[in-house]
Amino acid sequence: MKSFLTLLVRNRLALAGGIVLLLVVLLAILTPVLPLADPDVTNTSNRFQPIFSEGALLGTDHLGRDLLSRLMWGTRLSLAVGVAAAIVAATIGAGIGIVAGYYGGRIDNIIMRGVDMLMAFPYILLALAIVAALGPGLFNALIAVSAVNVPFFARNIRGITVGLAHKEFVDAARLAGLSNTRIILSEILPNVIPVIVIAMSTTIGWMILETAGLSFLGLGSQPPQADLGSMLGEARSALITNPHTSIVPGVMILIIVMSINLLGDGVRDALDPRLKSGALSRPMAATRVERAEQPPASEGQGLLEVKALETQFHIKDRIYRAVGGVDLSVEKGECLGIIGESGSGKSVTALSIMGLVASPPGVITGGAAYYEGVDLIGAPYKRLRDMRGRNVSYIFQDPLATLHPLYRVGDQLIEAIRAHRPIGREEGRAKAIELLNAVRIPNAEKRISDYPHEMSGGMRQRVGIAMALANDPDIIIADEPTTALDVTVQAQVLTILDDLRRSRGLAIVFITHDFGVVAQLCDRVAVMYAGRVVETGRTSDILDAPRHPYTARLMACVPELGGGKRRLEAIPGLPPVVDKLPVGCAFADRCDRAQDACRNGDIALAQTGHHAVRCLYPVAQEEIA
Ligand code: ADP
Ligand code: MG
Repeated sequence: MKSFLTLLVRNRLALAGGIVLLLVVLLAILTPVLPLADPDVTNTSNRFQPIFSEGALLGTDHLGRDLLSRLMWGTRLSLAVGVAAAIVAATIGAGIGIVAGYYGGRIDNIIMRGVDMLMAFPYILLALAIVAALGPGLFNALIAVSAVNVPFFARNIRGITVGLAHKEFVDAARLAGLSNTRIILSEILPNVIPVIVIAMSTTIGWMILETAGLSFLGLGSQPPQADLGSMLGEARSALITNPHTSIVPGVMILIIVMSINLLGDGVRDALDPRLKSGALSRPMAATRVERAEQPPASEGQGLLEVKALETQFHIKDRIYRAVGGVDLSVEKGECLGIIGESGSGKSVTALSIMGLVASPPGVITGGAAYYEGVDLIGAPYKRLRDMRGRNVSYIFQDPLATLHPLYRVGDQLIEAIRAHRPIGREEGRAKAIELLNAVRIPNAEKRISDYPHEMSGGMRQRVGIAMALANDPDIIIADEPTTALDVTVQAQVLTILDDLRRSRGLAIVFITHDFGVVAQLCDRVAVMYAGRVVETGRTSDILDAPRHPYTARLMACVPELGGGKRRLEAIPGLPPVVDKLPVGCAFADRCDRAQDACRNGDIALAQTGHHAVRCLYPVAQEEIA
């Protein structure tokens, strides 16, 4: 609530609109106690007094009534009717929309076709017809204005509800045995209320105008009662001779509608969570780079060499150190595993290499990523774009999210190739089939014209791999590509990756949280914790003799086939939040070997042969056996 107000106030126009509206509403509320003349008392000898005449600040109208007084009472009435109409329309419309969207099927069809029929008429015409049927009068005008605005709310809210009705939390509520009414009230309604408020705040102005329109035509408020519309209507005949009688109510309508709309836009912007999070502001084409120091030079290790990479997320005044100085390297034809719990910075490390971390909020604040000896961090966007997919390509966890649902997989493969070189239809098709064969999709000629939803999870992930292969990259970065798959399919996908690596000399950086997968696929492995590498070495060495307590605990979490009965140990506690990293070892709080020295200062990665560990009291060989 507080942040909503701050956001609203920060929007100057909305603030101005809000203040003006507040003044108008205050005046309207205070009207009965202000020393005003009676708005309905006529005095024909005193007709058409100009503005600023004695005893009538805004002059008088064609019957000699005090314009100021009529204006105040009229504003009061117009505001009340407009707001009432908006509330009625929003309540009925939202109710209809929620019921239609939640129940779906035939109920939805019947209700929404009815709403469509209402919408088929121009709304002023419809309002006129309703008032004509009910008879003129302010209350009937209110009914008419509400009725013509119901479809707008119903359509809006139905759209939102349809999206919500199939969300997991609604399913969960259903499984918990809640009744439909309870689910609508406790799960759906809280989620649509902001939308209702937004829709209301942007339409109240309209409704006030529409009510005024009906009154102007003599169908709304009846004489002598004043509202803004009827005042305009009565002044029409004297528009040329005594324009102030029209201008006074006209300006008031302008002020009210303008201020409501400005405020409404501000409310919408402040309430919309997407606008607030900045997700709708487009990220930059490549991650922002702000390196304070010269990055360390390349040591010429391997095809890709990451040196002291630091990536942070700057959100408001917080700094999240997602990656805090990571060194990695991978040779041609080698598979490097990166392992760690969720949130340890694996994905951010991988995405930083090609500048794919979203900025804002991501910033690369240090280090380098050398590809064949050339630093990619801070490289011009054109060069990065040219290399993405052609030299370094990515496979992501959820293939359903990375494949476009409306295009056939074959066309998506061809598009991936076309991004880097022109290719004809026939040639593209042949290449796509070849790629699908390479990832062992049976019957590739036919599957090429499948849509993603027609494929199983394993098949989709194979398409994901085929897509990564489309431009014969040198390095594939696979970010938990098998996490969404079951074990047998996972084994097949891993075999495919392993074969591709051997047949094509691919370098693979394989991100996972599963030591079983590492054992099967990787030559070397780097264990990450809280944004840093805590242990690295050859897979066999680390599997045989993990030295960092964290690695040892991670391995203890993996069940072994035929390993006999053994308790699987979960690691107690949670990884630290990366905006307040502790001094010293980040794992100390969860470690049973930690001593005071662990919490004192930075701990270096100590190298012995190929094996390096960032720990003062590493696990000794004898302890494991
Ligand atoms: P994982 O090892 O599971 O792949 P990530 O690399 O995705 O972990 O995340 C590392 C850290 O960076 C986490 O603490 C996460 O909260 C943070 N992080 C990742 N993306 C963002 C983002 N867009 N905004 C803020 N923090 C982020
Ligand atoms: Mg990840």
